[in-house]
Amino acid sequence: MSGLRFQVVGAAFSKSPLPVETPKEPTSAYFGKYVFGREQMLKYLSKDTLRKFDDITRNGKPLDRGLADHIAAGIKQWAIEHGATHYTHWFQPLTDGTAEKHDSFIEYAGKPGEGVIEEFSGKLLAQQEPDASSFPSGGLRNTFEARGYSAWDPTSPAFIVDDTLCIPTIFISYTGESLDYKAPLLKALLAVDKAATGVCKYFDENVNKVYSYLGWEQEYFLVDEGLYATRPDLLMTGRTLIGHESAKNQQLEDHYFGAIPERVQAYMKEVEFEAYKYGIPCKTRHNEVAPNQFELAPIFGETNLANDQNLLIMSIMKRVARKHGFRVLLHEKPFAGINGSGKHNNWSLGTDTGVGLFTPGKTPEENLQFVTFIVNILMAVYKNNALLKASVMTAMNAHRLGANEAPPAIISVFLGTQLSSLLDKIENSTSEEGITLDDKKKMALGIGSIPEVLIDNTDRNRTSPFAFTGNRFEFRAVGSSANCASAMIAVNTAVAAQLEEFKATVDAKIAAGTSKEHAIFEVIKQYIKESKAIRFDGNGYSDAWKAEAAQRGLDCETSVPKIYDAYTKPETVKMFEKLGVFTAKELAARNEVKWDIYTKKIQIEARVLGDLVLSSIVPVATKYQGILLDSANKMVSVFGQDKAAKLGSQTLKTIEQISGYIDSLKTNVEAMVDARRKANRIESEQEKAIAYHDTVLPFFDEIRDKVDRLELIVDDEMWPLPKYRELLFIR
Ligand code: ADP
Ligand code: MG
Repeated sequence: MSGLRFQVVGAAFSKSPLPVETPKEPTSAYFGKYVFGREQMLKYLSKDTLRKFDDITRNGKPLDRGLADHIAAGIKQWAIEHGATHYTHWFQPLTDGTAEKHDSFIEYAGKPGEGVIEEFSGKLLAQQEPDASSFPSGGLRNTFEARGYSAWDPTSPAFIVDDTLCIPTIFISYTGESLDYKAPLLKALLAVDKAATGVCKYFDENVNKVYSYLGWEQEYFLVDEGLYATRPDLLMTGRTLIGHESAKNQQLEDHYFGAIPERVQAYMKEVEFEAYKYGIPCKTRHNEVAPNQFELAPIFGETNLANDQNLLIMSIMKRVARKHGFRVLLHEKPFAGINGSGKHNNWSLGTDTGVGLFTPGKTPEENLQFVTFIVNILMAVYKNNALLKASVMTAMNAHRLGANEAPPAIISVFLGTQLSSLLDKIENSTSEEGITLDDKKKMALGIGSIPEVLIDNTDRNRTSPFAFTGNRFEFRAVGSSANCASAMIAVNTAVAAQLEEFKATVDAKIAAGTSKEHAIFEVIKQYIKESKAIRFDGNGYSDAWKAEAAQRGLDCETSVPKIYDAYTKPETVKMFEKLGVFTAKELAARNEVKWDIYTKKIQIEARVLGDLVLSSIVPVATKYQGILLDSANKMVSVFGQDKAAKLGSQTLKTIEQISGYIDSLKTNVEAMVDARRKANRIESEQEKAIAYHDTVLPFFDEIRDKVDRLELIVDDEMWPLPKYRELLFIR
């Protein structure tokens, strides 16, 4: 066994970077080559078709069959010219990642057996019926009517992977309920567009649409494939369930600033070339804080598309990693004791007139608009802090959130000193002082202009889960393996609801005779007071903050299954229903799915951990114990009982330690299996998940502790699993 470990370590050491063939042309020449984007549409669709298509994507006009046929014909021609032989509806089920079922373009030309032609009709483009019974639905789709439909999302362009045309689609049940992430995301984006446009019109009548923008930062670890393959825990669960921390890890912080290792550099290069072909505008790449941890980030884009691109790049990253002899770990916490991986969601709203709503403006009206939006975001996050946490919480991310690591499992907003003092000033000024009207009767905040320096905000707080960073908010609690849509649905819906309420309140004041400017000002001022509890600029990791946050009434729940309850609180259900994002039935069903996934993740980890301990660790420890016992016996035969006991006292102690650990391991694994059996008998998904959290999970630390102690004692030559130092420092 240990022979295998040294073999893979040796092999990993001797690998050299895979040569990457770089395209000769500049990036812009092949950017988006495999995407049916604007350029391709101009070439493959008639003017009339393109005009009608724009009407659908920009103005929400319905798609008719004739138009779908025309578009399908254009896409088919383009796809075939680029080597596609198959097509698939590409959708985002509630499990990880994306799903697809490939169909070939071929159909019989005439009678069966008389040769084939390539066919792709509007009907096939618009709708498909994958066998949905194997995707989670939380009971929304009984198996006797196991039908789910995928329907084309024309706002995200089709693309070709290998020989397959991929069509981004939503995935819904026979009765119309969402079974995916994309459908509710599109609804949330529509809601925030409508609500934000309504508020923008107070300031600029020309605004007709507000876009939600997302710029994700993808963190990940790379591990050599040989080392990965010899760690059953990594292979089966994506994280190490055992492993003593290495003598050196991230304390020197030398990795973050270091040069990118060569094999990794080659990998990154190839990921980027691939990404560019799919129109994903990768911008930055660098080492992250932990050893063998890296990050990749594109330029931000419209949220729906940016999210599709993130899902696509996660699959590109996995594919390219294999080619380079790596495995990419997207798990939120692959290694204990060092940083985990997140996916910061940089999020903002912007108008169709080109104004960033979280960007301090140059004119007084723009500044009032800026403050209006910032304060409404504060209110939205304040009222929905439990929901936002629920939207990013998973069995995996729980190891990151609140587990001695940032961001904590409490949602708060960081604004920075400048913006904070600006809000303080507004709070303390009267409406008359606060609003001034110039000669042209334009409104201005009576607090002077907002300092230019705010735009270039370097005031950073890395511990905040939701931080203002100059022209956007950075939702940092999102996990590295997550579908960003979950967070983006919650954020955009919460903000939409808040903006609607704001507008209704301001309109009522105006109707009662207050001027628009003063009405806005009064409501903002009131919101600043009301939402104070969500603002926190201090150290989010500290215990003092946990105590204070509880006092402020922020949600401090740390049990994952209980955190999901935030989705079904009456006011939350009302909010989602009112905005048409989720029905009560959908919310309940999705929670069922979340509990089920939670249970299964812990169940699998518990099984893997138990197996590893009983079939790898205990036997090796027992063998080593036998060697020590032999040597102790030999000591006795050479030196006699008394002298041997004295000379070998440390050895005897070690033997006792090992016995104790082995005993504890066996007892705990047995008890864990028992707890699992008991939990498995529970009918309700919610109760079962809670039982897994409360009664199965606690064994993990106890078991790990003993294994990690054994790792320090047992002869290195005999230890079967690659150690942390090997997993983290070989590349
Ligand atoms: P940092 O590591 O300092 O947080 P990065 O450069 O790694 O910053 O990532 C910042 C991300 O934020 C990028 O994806 C960038 O395109 C995105 N971003 C910048 N401005 C906005 C904005 N107004 N709205 C949304 N995302 C933005
Ligand atoms: Mg960031």
